[in-house]
Amino acid sequence: MTTLYVLGSGSGGNCFAVESEGIAVLVDAGFSAREVERRASTVELALDRIAGIVLTHEHGDHACGASRLARRLGVPVLTSSGTWTALSRHMATAEHRPLGLCTQAEVGPFVVQACPTSHDAAEPLAVALHAREGTSVGVAYDLGRPTTAVRYLMRNLSAVVLEANYDEVALRTSGYPPSVQHRIAGSGGHLSNRAAAELLVELHHPDLAVVVLAHLSRHCNTADYARATVGPALRRAGFTGKLHVAAQDMPLAPIRIERIGKLQLGLAL
Ligand SMILES: [Zn+2]
Ligand SMILES: [Zn+2]
Repeated sequence: MTTLYVLGSGSGGNCFAVESEGIAVLVDAGFSAREVERRASTVELALDRIAGIVLTHEHGDHACGASRLARRLGVPVLTSSGTWTALSRHMATAEHRPLGLCTQAEVGPFVVQACPTSHDAAEPLAVALHAREGTSVGVAYDLGRPTTAVRYLMRNLSAVVLEANYDEVALRTSGYPPSVQHRIAGSGGHLSNRAAAELLVELHHPDLAVVVLAHLSRHCNTADYARATVGPALRRAGFTGKLHVAAQDMPLAPIRIERIGKLQLGLAL
């Protein structure tokens, strides 16, 4: 069984872990090392089970705890060359395993694939972790827009973590100056609830078991807005799995991911 740990998500920090066969991989470490440890302990994720840290990009809300954690745990950092270069001052002793469109990497029981995203960072990535047991988890956030590459990477996964950053009306009435609104909604910015719903409908397939909405704006979104926009669209598309909304301030209860197709086959036998 694969377990997805949502330790927290939002502009104040992002950190997830995916575990299979008792070995876990962190996806982003956007809290201090101490805070990642504190949050992991509340959901009984022992950090000595971590075999590597996958980083989507160098922004502090995704990478600020990475160097210390990599050093403390003695694990490699899997990320693009551009992100590694941007962080290299801090990463002196860590091992870098390159990730990119044509460069996948292995860590523990996972093969990690990646593709570029449209975001204002050095070489940002969306990532997909494929476990040996057949389950898979994709993480895509800080997306200015969903590119063909992201659609391709995120297809046929068991679980999708996708950005639902802002409600369009809440952004327009937020009081942010027009320039800031344009940056958030622009092609180097973030995905709205409506854009997330459209992409998820496109990505939906019968074995999609879990969707987690992530990186919600504190000022221009709420969990209720995001769920109200995405939930009905997904159900109309035939989604029968579980829809979760990541929180900024606390981890979600661990999410078990099973292969729906296999499960149904098992029940029928
Ligand atoms: Zn970013
Ligand atoms: Zn971010």
